[in-house]
Amino acid sequence: MRVIPLGTSSGKPTLKRNVSALAVAREAEWLLFDCGEGTQTQVARAGLSPNRLSAVFITHLHGDHFNGLPGLLSTMGLDRRSRDLRLTGPRGLGEYLDMLERLRVAFLTYPVELKEFASLPEPTLVYETSDYTVTALELDHRLFALGYRIDERPRPGRFNVERARSLAVPEGPLWGRLQSGEAVQLDENRIVRPSDVMGAVRPGKSVAYCLDTRPCAMSLELARDVDLLIHEATYTEDFASEAQQYGHSTAAQAARTARDAGARRLLITHFSTRYADPTALLQEARAIFPDTLLAEDLLEIEV
Ligand SMILES: [Zn+2]
Ligand SMILES: [Zn+2]
Repeated sequence: MRVIPLGTSSGKPTLKRNVSALAVAREAEWLLFDCGEGTQTQVARAGLSPNRLSAVFITHLHGDHFNGLPGLLSTMGLDRRSRDLRLTGPRGLGEYLDMLERLRVAFLTYPVELKEFASLPEPTLVYETSDYTVTALELDHRLFALGYRIDERPRPGRFNVERARSLAVPEGPLWGRLQSGEAVQLDENRIVRPSDVMGAVRPGKSVAYCLDTRPCAMSLELARDVDLLIHEATYTEDFASEAQQYGHSTAAQAARTARDAGARRLLITHFSTRYADPTALLQEARAIFPDTLLAEDLLEIEV
């Protein structure tokens, strides 16, 4: 997976940072988490094709997280998209899109399959393919907000060609049967089992996306043992009371969540515009959780 922040500023864009959006790109498709105003331009800058966008996940209905949806959805209409789009988010999204269509602000030429939630106290599967699952869980913000987690399914081990040859398994359909987990009989007394020629199962990677939240048990749960935790860090600790009041986290709180959840790496984002230079946020987080990265618009992180 490639994680690409498309916007890293909280509340409003700056000349260097757009508002919240983040792409998770896979081989043939990509997923979008949040869609602040101007996201479609960032999508183009990142070299992502809207046609390959499979699903959009909105965390909550604050403008900096979803005001870019009408533009992006309409552009895909102009481009004559026909494949369906999956959209997950808080209740109200459907009404919003219906109104835009009614007012002829948005033109959709393709089906949008919407999943809306008004509360989500348990981790819930909201999207899946044969390669991965996406789970959502309610976080703790000023209004109903969702966090998300992607888990790749484990992949079978690598097929060991040399081992297959040394066991005299003829190349062809028998290799395919071994790869799909079937034992094959070579002659009367010789059976080759998948475990003879396949490496260990490769665990899938995982990414959690916790934006706009106070530190809470739910973000800890979403971030449990993830390869990459993407967490908001709107403020430094000297603004901890503002963070609490407005339903946000400090960089130190994001770092403690990453540490306590056993996350492997932390990517902090959603910086208050008061930090023209976000180095203080990075230093504060790294003092607690050294494997912290600072999000920049269009940075690419391999997971
Ligand atoms: Zn926000
Ligand atoms: Zn918010």
